[in-house]
Amino acid sequence: MSYRPKPPTTIKIGPIPFDVIKEPSENSGLMEYEDQRITLNDSMGLHCELETLLHESFHAMLTCIGKEELSDNEGFVQAASNALTALLINNIDLIRYINEVARKA
Ligand SMILES: [Zn+2]
Repeated sequence: MSYRPKPPTTIKIGPIPFDVIKEPSENSGLMEYEDQRITLNDSMGLHCELETLLHESFHAMLTCIGKEELSDNEGFVQAASNALTALLINNIDLIRYINEVARKA
């Protein structure tokens, strides 16, 4: 079996660490803010899994900054998080730069 990258087990959004869990589900993903949990469907392909993790993280980010009305706008979340996913996955040098800046923080 070939190597498959695993999502992080925790993602910090604002001051809150979210557990990232993979399990069988009818949905691609689910963000439960009060439970500090993001659940990913464990049968997705690699790129869909990444896209879903960023989608659910975006819901959490909007909730964290008090913009729940935007988080409830599924079309907005889908468009913005897919654009963010494309930006990150298509620019590996940007990821390297972010890593280097983060290590200086
Ligand atoms: Zn959503």
